[in-house]
Amino acid sequence: MTRDPRYDILFEPVQIGPVTARNRFYQVPHCTGIGWTQPETLARLRGIKAEGGWAVVATEETEIHPTGDCEPFHEGRLWDDRDVPAMALMADAVHEHGALAAIEIMHHGASAANWGTRLAPLAPSHRPIIYYSPVQARAMDKQDIRDLRGWHREAAVRSKKAGFDIVYVYATHDLSIAQHFLSRRKNDRIDEYGGSLENRVRLLRELIEDTKDAVGDKCAVALRFCGDELIGDDGLTYDGEARDVVEMLAELPDLWDVNISTWPNDSQTSRFAKEGFQEEYTSFVKKLTTKPVVGVGRFTSPDTMVSQIRRGLMDFIGAARPSIADPFLPKKIEEGRIDDIRECIGCNMCVSSDYTSTNLRCTQNPTMGEEWRRGWHPEIIPPKRSEGTVLVVGAGPAGLEAALAAARRGFDVHLAEAGSELGGRVIRESRLPGLSEWARVRDWRVGQLERMANVSIYRDSALEAEHILEFGARHVAIATGSTWRRDGVGRDSGFAIPGFDGPSVYTPDDVMTGRDPEAGPVIIWDDDHYYMGGVLAELCRYAGHEVVLVTPAAMVSAWTVNTLEALPIAKRLARMGIEVVPYTSVVGFDGAQVRLRSGLTGEETSRSAGALVTVTARLPLDDLHEQLRDRWEGAGIASIARIGDCWAPSTIQQAVYSGHKWARGLDEEPELLIPRELPFIESGRVQQR
Ligand code: ADP
Ligand code: SF4
Repeated sequence: MTRDPRYDILFEPVQIGPVTARNRFYQVPHCTGIGWTQPETLARLRGIKAEGGWAVVATEETEIHPTGDCEPFHEGRLWDDRDVPAMALMADAVHEHGALAAIEIMHHGASAANWGTRLAPLAPSHRPIIYYSPVQARAMDKQDIRDLRGWHREAAVRSKKAGFDIVYVYATHDLSIAQHFLSRRKNDRIDEYGGSLENRVRLLRELIEDTKDAVGDKCAVALRFCGDELIGDDGLTYDGEARDVVEMLAELPDLWDVNISTWPNDSQTSRFAKEGFQEEYTSFVKKLTTKPVVGVGRFTSPDTMVSQIRRGLMDFIGAARPSIADPFLPKKIEEGRIDDIRECIGCNMCVSSDYTSTNLRCTQNPTMGEEWRRGWHPEIIPPKRSEGTVLVVGAGPAGLEAALAAARRGFDVHLAEAGSELGGRVIRESRLPGLSEWARVRDWRVGQLERMANVSIYRDSALEAEHILEFGARHVAIATGSTWRRDGVGRDSGFAIPGFDGPSVYTPDDVMTGRDPEAGPVIIWDDDHYYMGGVLAELCRYAGHEVVLVTPAAMVSAWTVNTLEALPIAKRLARMGIEVVPYTSVVGFDGAQVRLRSGLTGEETSRSAGALVTVTARLPLDDLHEQLRDRWEGAGIASIARIGDCWAPSTIQQAVYSGHKWARGLDEEPELLIPRELPFIESGRVQQR
């Protein structure tokens, strides 16, 4: 297939200072949870993006000095020359596929507590560390500023030595010292680095000039800058000080990389923001500079991308998440394979990797973060080395991915689904408020499967054990999912809760399949702590009920701190008039009154409720597997495995991963099949300091 000429504009080369990008696809800096700890892992991950057609592939934040150390988070490091070889691995991997390598050198200033190095953090003025750490940054004196400029210059020189083509100066996300100097609320200095905007911008200007002076002959110097902080005049705004800064520095950097600060504002999930959501706050930049501009907005549609360029909003299509979900996005557009693009669903499971300091993971792309340690490639999967058909029972995210990966390996695949629709939980959940884009998990996989000659899909086909024994498949995956518990057992209570067997108790499965609470007030008992309690609260509120969400945690949807959604969820619920009752357990329900126990005082109280929605835990639906136990070996079946939620209920991301891993392992010796794990090839820690 060839490229649609409509998209030609996306493949024009663009000059950035002394270097040229081969097209307009730009992987902006993004965290991975990997950083300095696994250089080989990171090099392979970034190299695959270059292979997928991105013209520029950038690192994550890369610390320039131990006084800006953000442990326990894993970012890049260029503290001294010993870090150069590790960073060079990545630059080389990116160059191997004809892309430019960019590095975001930076100092965390008052955004990191230096837990690892135990040095005092630095800031323009005495201020606490922004992330509620019991640590303060000390005000820098003139020598500190000279030192900082020196470290930044040295890091730029090391970046060039490591082979990078683009070196960043970083001033956004509220994570960088240069932005802290810019900020009126963080900088009350009375010297030439504080006061007027001209003074507050001085350090940023100097860092850009120093970097250009140190490496500008060979490397482009990019400025990553905040178009708006979304806090009004207390911060930088697109029609206020951010605009003034762009006017002041317009032609100084070789490239402007603009976004909304902070990270939660920049990487909003699809529950809160749609493709192109940053336009209002960043489009002014291009009008004020002749230098190329890159911006982001979770772009996955080539038509939207073209529109961004044609309307003069930006020169490059920036992407972090779309490049994680599909490292081959540019290649697919180039080759006219638009339907093959695996679109990001905007769930931020990728972000949770950084928050938990673990290898990058992605709901849509199960190979992400596994390129090195498992040798997985997003587009290439080893052909089968053995014969035999595959039967996958259940077409949720695990079953769909297992079927697809097995089919891509060349197996004849049969996929049976009890319902008339494919997609399992993804379909049910994508109908909940704000989660519609999650249907992309199904859409992409079904779109691929339906075009494959070696795949047969059977809808309305609830299989029983006898069917499976008679089917004649060599490998069977049971992907029948899980069901929400009705009895209240979960984290908070290890025992069934009295009264939960009554008629006005509802589970998420009930609500998702149309058995809605008939009368309010509705109490949501959220002992799950991810998104489900919050979205069901919204749903019941939209239905007109009074809604109260009770949680033993200190806040609603507590785990969503890791997906940057905790505050937006809390705000949305508050604005909808949904009351959240924290530090509280539900301990009983008599059909009219819900009994609550305070986790703080132990006091018991009652609240009237017309319905109780219990969101606690799930149980695998693995009856089929039980029925097949001790019977399948005589039936010519070589392996039978439970995957996804049927094996261990978890996230959609984990279900997809589990299905993928199963299909990759099909030729392994039977004893290596699930439940035994496929071994990692390498930890990727080869060059660890
Ligand atoms: P996972 O997240 O592990 O993929 P889901 O709950 O999303 O799990 O999907 C499980 C799917 O399996 C559902 O679509 C369900 O209808 C289907 N299913 C359950 N039991 C059977 C069965 N006996 N035969 C065929 N399909 C089944
Ligand atoms: Fe997109 Fe979710 Fe993948 Fe992140 S984890 S890239 S948000 S699909």
